[in-house]
Amino acid sequence: MATNGESKRRSDRRLTAVQGDITKQQVDAVVNAANSRLAGGGGVDGAIHRAAGAAQLRAACAKIGRCDPGDAVATSGFALPARWIIHTVGPVWRGGNAGEDAVLASCYRRCLEVADELGAKSIAFPAISTGAYGFPPDRAARIAVTTLRNTPTQVTDVRLVAFDRDTFELYKSLLGDPADEG
Ligand code: ADP
Repeated sequence: MATNGESKRRSDRRLTAVQGDITKQQVDAVVNAANSRLAGGGGVDGAIHRAAGAAQLRAACAKIGRCDPGDAVATSGFALPARWIIHTVGPVWRGGNAGEDAVLASCYRRCLEVADELGAKSIAFPAISTGAYGFPPDRAARIAVTTLRNTPTQVTDVRLVAFDRDTFELYKSLLGDPADEG
């Protein structure tokens, strides 16, 4: 068993790309790309609500109330294979000069911090902000990989889940090592 210090070493963290549906991931925590009212919506948020059980998840989110862009909050995973859902709110793309990069990096960082508080050892991230929120996918992927590599954490299995082939290829090229598909 590694000590705390040892388990935070970068070398203990496995960062992989996966192509598929995040709701199917067998991990301790899945990340939801939520909106600040935690109100549910389309895209990955809608998929997570449907798979977790929309009524239960809506009620849990209503109790929390809201989440600011760049921050993260946790609920139960309900019917998902994952024990927890970590809801984070990505930046809406406004052209790149409105602090979007920093807010997106903060999403990845805060999710790892919340995962550590929960004791989660494995986590799956969607490509936050690259759908309805319009963040350029290549720029978002670089921020995701850099932040997930450099943030201290006790999470040992970090997965970047790409819904589409292009995002999967982007992640693979940035990770520069063999990636899983599934
Ligand atoms: P945002 O509002 O933060 O842009 P979206 O849900 O619109 O969030 O899109 C974020 C990313 O999640 C997009 O790349 C989209 O293709 C992807 N996505 C949508 N559904 C799923 C799913 N079931 N599993 C994984 N990724 C998904």
